Amino acid sequence: MKQVGCNEVDKSMNEMEEFDYTVEQFADLQLLRYKVYGFEELSLKQKKLIYYLSQAALQGRDILFDQNGKYNLLIRKMLETVYTEYQGDRTDVNFVNLETYLKRIWFSNGIHHHYASNKFVPGFTPEFFRDALNSVDALKLPLGKGETVEELCEEVFPVIFDSEMMPKRVNQADGEDLVLTSAANYYEGVTQKEAEDFYHNLKNPDDMMPVMFGMNSRLVKEDGKVQEKVWRSGGLYGQAIDKIIYWLDKALGVAEDAQQKIVIEKLIRFYKNGDLKDFDEYSIAWVKDLDSRVDFVNGFIESYGDPLGLKASWESIVNFKDLEATKRTEIISANAQWFEDHSPIDPKYRKEKVKGVSAKVITATILGGDCYPATPIGINLPNADWIRKDYGSKSVTIENITHAYNEAAKGNGFLEEFIYDPADIELQKRYGELSDNLHTDLHECLGHGSGQLAPGVKTDALKNYGSTLEEARADLFALYYLGDPKLVELGLVPSFDAAKAQYLHYILNGMMTQLARIQPGKDVEEAHMRNRMLIAMWCYEKGQQGEGEPVIKKVTHDGKTYIEVTDYERLRELFGELLCEIQRIKSEGDYEAGKTLVETYGVKVDQNLHNEVLKRYSNLNIEPYSGFVNPVYKPVMEKGEITDVKVEYTEGYKDQMLRYSKDYSFLPSVN
Ligand code: ZN
Repeated sequence: MKQVGCNEVDKSMNEMEEFDYTVEQFADLQLLRYKVYGFEELSLKQKKLIYYLSQAALQGRDILFDQNGKYNLLIRKMLETVYTEYQGDRTDVNFVNLETYLKRIWFSNGIHHHYASNKFVPGFTPEFFRDALNSVDALKLPLGKGETVEELCEEVFPVIFDSEMMPKRVNQADGEDLVLTSAANYYEGVTQKEAEDFYHNLKNPDDMMPVMFGMNSRLVKEDGKVQEKVWRSGGLYGQAIDKIIYWLDKALGVAEDAQQKIVIEKLIRFYKNGDLKDFDEYSIAWVKDLDSRVDFVNGFIESYGDPLGLKASWESIVNFKDLEATKRTEIISANAQWFEDHSPIDPKYRKEKVKGVSAKVITATILGGDCYPATPIGINLPNADWIRKDYGSKSVTIENITHAYNEAAKGNGFLEEFIYDPADIELQKRYGELSDNLHTDLHECLGHGSGQLAPGVKTDALKNYGSTLEEARADLFALYYLGDPKLVELGLVPSFDAAKAQYLHYILNGMMTQLARIQPGKDVEEAHMRNRMLIAMWCYEKGQQGEGEPVIKKVTHDGKTYIEVTDYERLRELFGELLCEIQRIKSEGDYEAGKTLVETYGVKVDQNLHNEVLKRYSNLNIEPYSGFVNPVYKPVMEKGEITDVKVEYTEGYKDQMLRYSKDYSFLPSVN
């Protein structure tokens, strides 16, 4: 997966558009809107398919809330009731801060920051909240059987107000029990050791086609026995999963071709019985489904929310192929073997035969679960290594999302604030969007799929450092090739200047500007951020060695820090060297070396620089995180039949969230 760096883009597009990309700003967040270009031109059958899949994409929202923390649904429902029913002074500072708190919870799908994973500090008092809860109709509150408001407060208030309780959703601090200290709801009553032992014992080292053990369940200790509660119809989250199945079944009736039918059927079967072998079968069918225009992801996919990297959060994204822009990624995937053969890594870790790298540029039509409101800009699935090796993978660049970011960032002053040389600013304006999209293409289409493991090495050998190192590997592959003359030869970039734009931007982000996302005094924790910092800081340090000028310089003008790249060709070599080492670490499962790399370069923050970045950012009034409001799809009905589907862009953030909470809530408050 690839996530956007920061809201730092400022790129000129030729077309002038009237579409309003911005929705609202609060806390450290900015809400945007994306446009579904080309939807009107799709066939009625494709529109129906998208409509049904979009419904399926919204049904699992509460699953993610519960996965992110045991009390999330309960707290959200309490807040929503007060928010909609409260008759007191709605301009009171307590109420205003309650609104902000609720908006942040909607955005994060829980009470912890979606990215930094630390618990929000509410800006209202327990006394206010207690009085407000007592003032509304108790029937509308999520009270248990016979439970009083007082008892509900007793149970939940420490979770909201006590900063010591459940402080982090995902704890990655080296040396602590990562399971016990993470608030994510993937384990209950088990220690890290017990969880690791449980899954270690399930594994058969000789199995060449291992399922992803633990991916779709909560691990609990009941009656002294460690066991899984599987997420499936009739199991944990069954009420929401049944709704997903209902809409998938509708989609089945309008599938584009036989292969897509198989995909949907297999996914339904997996949701019904929770068998991981069925999930692998579904994934293989999905990789083979290349001809349909409409495509989707719906399921338990990414494991960033689990400190052990096993349990997958629920997400969905529905999309259709952007035929014109896909020509670009087709050129890249047609040359996949060339890129693999020339990769600057130990030849024994190159793939002899790159299989089925299919890449496309897509237009997202709906974002759900862990893709909403904050969303990736590129995806490469499936995650199972053996399926990728034997069947290949599908890689996408989500261009209507990146375009929305770029449009919304136009003229926000970021480039002028953080880049000193006007020629460099010009380079960003000219090549920023192009090189960003190409970076995503290369990262997703080739980066994640490149390389191979040494015989006998397990894919999870890097444990809690696995995600960071994997993202670094994909980023480095993309960075290295962005500057390759081959890209000019293939007609993808006009010159090395496109790479220069991306290189400066990447190093600047990794060393400085992404720090805007971190609270003062905190270290870097999120996998993608650690990856970017690791790459930038490693290159910075290595670039100081040897004769001549440093490759990367930190310089000061008028008391402000700037990053200067003095030798782009040498920087490209450094990317290649680090790629070689990280590929070796992954291929050999060298946990200690991986840990040392991440801990040395990707975690610790320079406090002075951090404070400076925060100050400069706040002066610009740019929020460091963005997310998206979905469009609304409305079927046009005639005599009980759908004759068309209309897409509307008018729904606001609060209205959408409250509507989703009303229409797509199927789970108990505590699961
Ligand atoms: Zn990635």
